[in-house]
Amino acid sequence: MASQPTTTPPWVEALRKILDLEAARGFDNGAVMGGLDRFVVHWSESIAGFLADTEGVRNLLQASYRQLSPRERADWVDRWNMLLDSVGESPGGPPVTGPVFPNSGASRTQAPTAKAPVRKTEPSRPSISFRGPPAGLTIDAPVDRLRGVDTKLSARFQRLEVTTVRDLLYLFPRRHQDYSRVVKIAEVEPGLECTVIGHLWESRVVAMGPKGRLKATEAVLSDETGNIKIIWFGQGYLAQSLRSNARISISGKAEAYRGQLVFESPDYELLDEGQTPIHTGRLIPVYPLTEGLTARNLRRITWQALTQWLGGTEETLPADLLDRTQLMPLPTAIMQAHYPDGLDTWAKARRRLAFDELLTLQLAVLSRRKRLSQRIEGVSIKVDSNILKGFIDSLPFALTGAQLRCIDEILSDLEQGTPPMNRLLQGEVGSGKTVVVLVALLAAAAAGYQGAVMVPTEVLAEQHFQTVARLLGGLARPVQEENLVTAYLASLGRPVSVGLLTGSTRAKVRRELINRSTEGNLDLLVGTHALIQSGVEIPKLALAVMDEQHRFGVLQRSALRQKGLENSHTLVLSATPIPRTLSLTLYGDLDISTIDELPPGRQKIKTRWLGPDRRDAAHGFVRKQVQEGRQAFIIYPLIEESEAIEARAATEEHRRLSQDVFPELRVGLLHGRMSAREKDKVMRQFRDGELDILVSTAVVEVGIDVANATVMLIEGADRFGLSQLHQFRGRVGRGEHKSYCILLSDDPSEVARERLAALEQIDDGFQLAEVDLELRGPGDFFGTRQSGLPDLRMARLSDRELLTMAREEAARLIDQDPELAAPEHAGLARQVARFLNRVSGEST
Ligand code: ADP
Ligand code: MG
Repeated sequence: MASQPTTTPPWVEALRKILDLEAARGFDNGAVMGGLDRFVVHWSESIAGFLADTEGVRNLLQASYRQLSPRERADWVDRWNMLLDSVGESPGGPPVTGPVFPNSGASRTQAPTAKAPVRKTEPSRPSISFRGPPAGLTIDAPVDRLRGVDTKLSARFQRLEVTTVRDLLYLFPRRHQDYSRVVKIAEVEPGLECTVIGHLWESRVVAMGPKGRLKATEAVLSDETGNIKIIWFGQGYLAQSLRSNARISISGKAEAYRGQLVFESPDYELLDEGQTPIHTGRLIPVYPLTEGLTARNLRRITWQALTQWLGGTEETLPADLLDRTQLMPLPTAIMQAHYPDGLDTWAKARRRLAFDELLTLQLAVLSRRKRLSQRIEGVSIKVDSNILKGFIDSLPFALTGAQLRCIDEILSDLEQGTPPMNRLLQGEVGSGKTVVVLVALLAAAAAGYQGAVMVPTEVLAEQHFQTVARLLGGLARPVQEENLVTAYLASLGRPVSVGLLTGSTRAKVRRELINRSTEGNLDLLVGTHALIQSGVEIPKLALAVMDEQHRFGVLQRSALRQKGLENSHTLVLSATPIPRTLSLTLYGDLDISTIDELPPGRQKIKTRWLGPDRRDAAHGFVRKQVQEGRQAFIIYPLIEESEAIEARAATEEHRRLSQDVFPELRVGLLHGRMSAREKDKVMRQFRDGELDILVSTAVVEVGIDVANATVMLIEGADRFGLSQLHQFRGRVGRGEHKSYCILLSDDPSEVARERLAALEQIDDGFQLAEVDLELRGPGDFFGTRQSGLPDLRMARLSDRELLTMAREEAARLIDQDPELAAPEHAGLARQVARFLNRVSGEST
C-alpha cells in the first residue's frame, strides 16, 4: 500500500502513541511527562486549528484529564482516538452514511491529485474499494497493530480466538440490533426500538440508590418536535462528556415512567465529530463479549479494521465462479456481515461467507480423496470366514444386527483392497465398536498382515487392550504377559498376539514389542501416540484403526498408516454421533458405517436437570449412592479461558468438596494439567474402587468404563454441548446398577434450558445431535474444546442448496485444477491451506 505524502502536524502521531500508552498503563496519566493535560494545552492551538471547531472537540480540549475518574479517562482516550481515526479516514473508504466531519477537507492535507495512489482493482469486478493495511503489513498482522489495542487487550482478544486482524475481520457478530428506525421525539412509542437524533441539554450527574452512592447521568434530548428524558444508570462520567447542546444520536427503547417517556441507558453517539455512526442509527453488530472488552470498544476496533484494513482481503473466488453463482464479492461481504445496509444485504453477505466455508471444506476433503484414489492399489485381504465365525461364536453374546452389517461393510472393503479402505465407524458409547474392530483386525491377522489401534490416552489404550484380551478369552487359553496377550485361534491353527505400547511402557518391554513388531511377529498393536514415534515399525501393517478420531484431527490421519504399507486400510472410530448432513460435509472423504443399535438390555440412565437451589439435594443423592457402595463422577464446568485456570478452579473445587461437602468420602481429582502418569494413576484408583467420587474436568469424557459408577453429576451443564453431555452420561450405566445423570446449571439461557430438557427426554445420541444442531448450529456442535473439527461460523446445515452448490463447484475446481495451481486459484489455495493448517494445528 502506498502511503499518502503527509504534512500531518507532529502532535498527531505523538498523541496517538500517548493515548495507546496511556491505555496500556491503565489511565494513570503517566504516559507523558507532566500529564496529558499539559500535552494537550501545549498543542491546543494547533489541535484546534487542525480539527473542526465543534462542541465535541472543544469539550475534549477543555476537559481536565487529571480530574477524571479512570472510567472517564478511558472514555476521554476513546474519544480522542475516534477523532484521530476520523481524520485519518481515507476518502476511498466505504460510503459514509452519517454526517461528514465538518471542515475536515480544509484542514486535512491533500495529496496532489496526480500523485494520488491508484488502487488496483480488477476491471472485471467493479466493487467498492476498501482501504488496505498500512505499508508493509497484511491483514495477517497481529491484532495489536490496530490503534488502541495494547498487550492487555490482545490477551482479551485471544479469548475470542482473535490473534490477527484477519481473525477480527472474521469475528462476525452473533446478531444485529436493529436501530435503523429513526424517529422524531414526538413519534417515540414506549417499548419500540428506535433511534432519535437531537440536541442534549441539562446533562447532569444525579445521585441514586442507597445513600446516593450510585451515580447516573440525566439529560434531556430535544428536537423540533419535543423533549424526552434520558437516564444513564451508573454512568455518572457521561455528564462530563455529554455537554449541553451536543448533537447526539441515541438508540434504544423508551419506557413510560410516571406518565413520562424515558430512555434508560440507551446506546449513544455524538454526531458532532463527524464519524460514521457505529453504535446507533442502523443495524448494529452484537459481538460475543469477553471480560474487559466492552461492546463499544469492540465495535470501535472492528470498525477501524473494516475501514482501514479490509482492502487487504483478497477475493478468493475465481471470476467465472462469482459470475455463475452471483455471490457477493468478499470484502463487501465482510463489511456487510458486520455493518449491513439492511437485512437483505446481510443475508447476501452471510450466503457468500457460508459458501466460502463449505467450499473450503469440500476442497480440502475432495483433494484428499482425489490424492487417495490416485494411489497405488490397496492390499486385498482374503477374508477367511471360518476363522471369523470361530471367533464370533466364542463371544459370550450375540452381535447386534447393526454390528453384523458394519462388519460386512468393512470386510468387503478389505477384500476389495483397491482403493484402500477409508472408513468411519460411528456408534454411541457402548454400542460395541471394539468387537467390530477386532473382527476386522483378526481378518487382517489371519491373512498374514498386522493391524494397529491408536487411541488418545494411556488408560484408554489399556482398556482397549483388556477388552481385546477379554474378547479373545472365549478362545482357548489366552496367555497374558505384561503388555502382551496371546490367544490360540484353533480355526487359524496358530496363536494371535496383541501388544500394548504406550508412553509408560517399560523400556525393556518396549524394546521387545518393537522387535517383535519389526520382525512382523506381532499381529496387533494397541497404543497411544507412542505408535507413531520413530523407532516403531509395523512392516506388514494392513489395517490402521484410530479411535476417538476428532482428537487426532480430521484430516490428519495418515501418520499411522505411513508406518507400514503405503496402501494400508484405515478405519476411524467415533463415538460422537454425527447427523448425516454434517458427516457428508465433514467426512466427505470417508465412507461411513454406523452402529445405530445398542446391545439389548442396556438400561436407560435417569437424567434430571436442576437449578442451583437443588445442589445440596444433588450432593445428598451422591452420598446416598456411595453409601450403597456405588461411585460417582462430578464434572467441573468448562472454563474457556485456559486449561490452567480450569485446572486451578477444579483443584479448588476438589478441596471444597472433599473437605466441606464429603469429608467422610474418598474424593479424587482429574484435570488436563496433570501429567499422563498422574491422570492414569487417578483413573486406575477410581476404576479399582479406591475412590468414591472422581471430580474431573472434561478430560474424563473419553474415559474408562467403571461398572460400579452410577452417578454422573455435571456442574455448569449449560456450558457443554449436548453431544458432549451425552458422552459424559455414557460413562455411567456401564454395569448392572441403575444409573443417574444430574445436570446442574446456575443460570441457563432459554436455549440452554431447551437443550437440557432435550437431554432429559432423549437418550439416542443421533437424535440429540440433530437437536443440538438445530438449537446451536454446527459451529458450537462439538464444543469448543473438541478440536480438530472446522468451525463453521456462517454456514448452517439448513443451507442444503448452498451445500450442494459448494460440492458442485468444488468438484468442478478439482476436476480442472486438482492442485489449485492456476494463478486464478491462488487465493483459494491459500484459503484451503489456512484451513488445513488450523485443523491440523489443533490436533494431537
Ligand atoms: P464402544 O462402542 O463404546 O467402544 P465397546 O466395544 O467397548 O463399546 O462395548 C461395550 C461393552 O458392550 C463391552 O463390554 C462389550 O463387550 C459389550 N458388547 C459389545 N457388543 C455386544 C453385544 N452385541 N451384546 C452384548 N454386549 C456387547
Ligand atoms: Mg470404545
